[in-house]
Amino acid sequence: MATWQCVKSCGACCFLAPDERPDLDEYLTPEQLSLYLSLVGEDGWCIHYSASDRTCTIYDHRPDFCRVTPTTFAAMFGIAPEDLNDFAIDCCQQHIGDLYGEESVEMQRFEQAVG
Ligand code: SF4
Ligand code: SF4
Repeated sequence: MATWQCVKSCGACCFLAPDERPDLDEYLTPEQLSLYLSLVGEDGWCIHYSASDRTCTIYDHRPDFCRVTPTTFAAMFGIAPEDLNDFAIDCCQQHIGDLYGEESVEMQRFEQAVG
């Protein structure tokens, strides 16, 4: 069975441009949405994203909506803990496919990592 994990040198979920995510207000609280929008840089990337090494510069303090945990995904998407793995894999595939392409190196790395 494939097991979700975040892979290095990706960062696809840190591209926050709201036009790429039209349903934000359906799963974020008003406070979270406000914080989310405050993070969007002019280029659509999170202002805390380091493009040079594709990392989060506030990783230990990143918002809860950036965290893949049973608690956050239950609150945002109503996902049961046993469904989190498959749902998280789908989310990553969608972000990676949209940003880098279905045949990208990033997608290949992700598929290899999750098995
Ligand atoms: S899209 Fe998935 S693999 Fe890529 S940085 Fe985000 S959580 Fe990690
Ligand atoms: S706070 Fe960090 S993890 Fe969240 S979108 Fe920004 S760079 Fe990515």
